[in-house]
Parts: sequence; C-alpha cells; structure tokens
Amino acid sequence: MPYSIEQRDEQLLNTSANILYTLGFERAPQHLVSVTMRVQAITGPDVVLVMPSWTPGSYKIRDYAGLQGNVRAYTVRGTSRTPAAFHWRDKASLVVQTNGADIIEVDYVVYGYERTVRTNHINRWHAFLVPAATCMYVEGRQDEIHHVALTHAQSEWPHVSTALSPVRKGDATLLGALNYDILVDSPLEIGDHIVRTFEAEGAKHELALVTNHNVDADWLVEQLKTIVSTEAAIFGGVPYDRYVFVLHCFPGNGGGLEHARSSINGTDPQTLLDKSKAIDLLSLLCHEYFHLWNVKRIRPVELGPFDYTRERYTSMLWLAEGLTSYYDDLLAYRCGFTTEKAYLEGIAKDHFGKLARVPGRAQMSVKDSSYLAWLKLYFAPAPDASNRFPSYYLKGGVIFLLLDLYIIDHTDAQRSLDDGLRAMWEQYRIDPAKGLTEQECIALIERATGVQVREMLQGWLDGTEELPHAEILAAMGLTLELKPPSTSAITFGENRTFASVQADVMAGWTCADVNGRIIVRAVEDGGPAQRAGIGVDDEILAVNDKRVASPAHLDRLMAEQGGTAARITAHCDGRLYTTSITCVPTATFTLTESATLTEHQLANRKRWLHR
Ligand SMILES: [Zn+2]
Repeated sequence: MPYSIEQRDEQLLNTSANILYTLGFERAPQHLVSVTMRVQAITGPDVVLVMPSWTPGSYKIRDYAGLQGNVRAYTVRGTSRTPAAFHWRDKASLVVQTNGADIIEVDYVVYGYERTVRTNHINRWHAFLVPAATCMYVEGRQDEIHHVALTHAQSEWPHVSTALSPVRKGDATLLGALNYDILVDSPLEIGDHIVRTFEAEGAKHELALVTNHNVDADWLVEQLKTIVSTEAAIFGGVPYDRYVFVLHCFPGNGGGLEHARSSINGTDPQTLLDKSKAIDLLSLLCHEYFHLWNVKRIRPVELGPFDYTRERYTSMLWLAEGLTSYYDDLLAYRCGFTTEKAYLEGIAKDHFGKLARVPGRAQMSVKDSSYLAWLKLYFAPAPDASNRFPSYYLKGGVIFLLLDLYIIDHTDAQRSLDDGLRAMWEQYRIDPAKGLTEQECIALIERATGVQVREMLQGWLDGTEELPHAEILAAMGLTLELKPPSTSAITFGENRTFASVQADVMAGWTCADVNGRIIVRAVEDGGPAQRAGIGVDDEILAVNDKRVASPAHLDRLMAEQGGTAARITAHCDGRLYTTSITCVPTATFTLTESATLTEHQLANRKRWLHR
C-alpha cells in the first residue's frame, strides 16, 4: 500500500482490527503502562513483534525496548490462553511461536517517566503516551488497521486527547489508526487536563492543556484560532477534519513535536502566567502547527515510510526544520503577536546574531549537519558542538530568510517563498505517497516564482562560507550592523556617576554553578577563554585573586575588568593553574533601516511583511 498518514475520524467508525493493544494503568503511580497486544489472523509458525528504536521528528535512536519488561506470550484458542514460547531475535524484536494458533497475545509493561515530547510520562495524575515507545508492531503487517483500547478509571481521568479516531461514536476508550505509521504519529494524553474545543476552517480543533497552574486557557484558544486561520490562508484551507494541540505546561518545559493531526508542545507556566513572555510559546505553536504541512505532508523523500529499527538519514532537514524555523517567527508576526520592529530585531538578534556565535558554521555544511543529526544535533550534544557544526534549524532558517527576500526582490515584489511553498503543497496533493528530493524542491520553487535560485541555494546548502546578506537586505532597505555595546554608568543617589563599566563583555565561555563550584560548560573556538587555554569542565576559582562566588559574580568581575587582562585562577583535574584572559566586547547585530526607501524597496518590504 502507498505510504499515507492521512486519516479522517469517519474512516475508523465501526471498523474491526486484527491488531489490538489494550492499555492498563493500575500501576501508573509507579510510572508503568501495561500492554496486552492481541494479534489475530496469523498464518505461519511464528510472528515477529518489534518495538521501534525511534520516533519520527526526533532523529535519535532511543531504543524504547530498553524500558519494556515483564514480557509474556500466549496462544489463544477461544477464551483460553496458553503460554507460548518466544525468543528475542535482536534487542527489540520478539519472535513468538504460534503453535498452530491463529491468535496470540503478548503482555508487557513499559516504564515511562521522562517529560519530553518524545517519551512516555506516566504517573498517578495522567499518562502521556508516545506510541513508538509503547506499541510494538507486527512485522509485515504495518498497513493494517490498529486499535487501542483504554481501561483507565474514567472518573479520575475523564479526558482522552489524541489524533487517534474513535471506533464507536462518542466513546474515547476504543481508538483506531488506519495503519501503524498513523498510530505512531498519534500520541495520547489521558487524564484530568483542561480541554477546550473550537471550530475553524471547517474542521474541529482541540486544546489539551496539561498543567498544575491556573493559566488562561480561553486566551490561548483565541491565539490558536489566529494561528489556524493565518497558516491556512497560505495553503488555502486545512487538510484535516480534526486537530489536537497538546500543551504540557510545567516548570522548565519546552520544545515540541509535530504530527499530521496533532502537535505536542511544552512550555514553562511563566509564559502563560505573564503574557508578555508568551511570544516564544506562540512561535513554538506556529512552528509545530506549520509542520502539519511542511514535514508531515510536504517532506524530504526519505521521511516516510519509515524503518523504525534504524536511522533514517536525510540531508534535507534544512527544508523540514530550516524552512519551518524561518516561518515560525514570520507567522507569529503575521498573526499579530509581534510588531514589525520587534520582528526585525528578532531577525538580527536570534537569526543572524546567533548564527554568528556558532564557529561550527565554518566547519560543516547545513546538509551534512542534517545527515548527521542522529549523532550531532539530536545526540546528547558534545560541549563543543557549536564549534563543530551549525544547527540546520538556525542556519536553515537564515537561508530561507535570504531566499525569500531574494525571490521578492527579483520578481518586483510579485512573488515570494509563499509561492514556492504552495507549489510544494500542490505537488503533495498530486502524489501524497512521494516525498521531495532536493532537486525537485528547488525546481518547484523556481517554477512557482520564475526566479533562478538553484546555483545560489545549492552553494548555501553545500558550503561553509558566510551567507551573503548585505545585498539581499539592502533590497529591503535594511543594513545588518554589528554594534558594540554602549558603556553604562553606575549611579549613586542623585544621578552622580560613580564608575563606568563595559556593559557587555564576553569571555567566550559558558559557566554554571555545579554544587557551589563554578564549572566551565563550553568554550567557544577562537574566543578569549580558548586563547587563555581554558577547557570544558575546568573550575574557575578566582579573578585577580578574588574568589568567585557564582556565575553572576564571575560575569560581574569580568565586566569590571572590561577590555584589560584578568588573572584567572582555575583548577583542572586536581591541580591549580593560572592564566590571563582578556574579554572582548559583546557586539550585537542590529538591522538598521535606510532613512528613505525607494519605491522598489517599499514594495519589497510590503510583500515580505504583509499581514
Ligand atoms: Zn520543527
């Protein structure tokens, strides 16, 4: 069957399935979900069940089978179960002897207590289930309908929020997916969370808000409505019948994961308790929602169908994540969540500014960074990761910003990247089973905009040279400038200047308090700390013989030193050493607007920043 992640709720109504997972939560306080997997219509002497090693969208081998235990297998005849022999073919694949029976059941438990968007999190209050971490697949039968039965106490956990479809109308305890890929793409949130529903673009939407805080769900619903209508406007409507926004709102939470009919988002409660801090959350929601088009449907050719047992390499995460990173801020602006001024400041600071602080941009192309994501960006990053490679989110985002502006400028503001996006979307609708190659992607953008970008774009994707921004930004009446920080005065009483210090200097290190010790966490290639011979995990003891009390105190001492050399006493592997470090000013990027704009520049700006 051709690969598909499309599902409408009505397609699952009154279906039957030969693969059924019954999930139990009796041991939720111990962070366990119990699974009984029933497989019917078996032919042959054995059946192979496999636990995925990763879940799409999160490009890291996680070996979910490591959290699985208490495995028992049975053959089933009528209502009786007989223990069946089984063995492990490899770390995640279970071979069960059928002994002539056409039905088997396998019981197991899965431990899950890691609160991320791609791991199970189960406790007495709720269960967030990632299907790849919970449901084994039957080798060779992933194309079949799969059912999931839930047996939780509905009085305690009244809500089930998931893109899985009810098999019986109005009953959320028996859910289904047209195939295993769709099951994996449909996490479940089960508990007493806040639920809000709304209609938009002719489709149903649901917000599942999981939090211990008294946050404003209704305000959030209004913002989600704006996000839905703003993004749907690009593509001419939404391609689903129902969509679920899951938001985990807990201290220190962050990140998101995209799915075809849902997204999982994380945020700190502070972003909703103080709405002036909500912009990052709103950008995240724009980002994950945008993925329902770009990644889940418009996608690199390698990203679906999947082999869940091993890495799925693609050098095109610049399309999947770079394009989405460019659009998330742009969409937050189009939604009216931010002003034009703030958007431009963000472009300077968070896109150009951050990329400029990544020495690894000169070491590896964005395509290789994508291909090696499994061992680079998604792997527990080495402390010197940013010295070795650029993130395809960050550099990919800057590439698409420049590409968009280039297209606008070269079409007299008649076309933009939106047109390229729409062309890719049309291509998906013609052939949903097939992803895009790099060549096809570039060809679609060229055809839709009439601008030749191939050579330039490929140079940016393959190369490690600095991206050429001056001319492209000039066409928008903008200049990117590196400005040193202003010197600030410390005043006492009636504005009497006491002393002047350099407001922002940088040593090119990141330090953290580890049990009261100030430990170097990262050292920037080419920066002052590296030149001073300081290494990761070294402990900073004193600056000019003054004992350092905290990272903030260290920053203060370094700032007071300004641009002159400071004597550092440090400790490495049981022995003290001294060195000298001279900080440099932390220059920041700003986008400066031309005093007057030509008509051409005005038209360009209008096309880019329309809303
Ligand atoms: Zn993303």
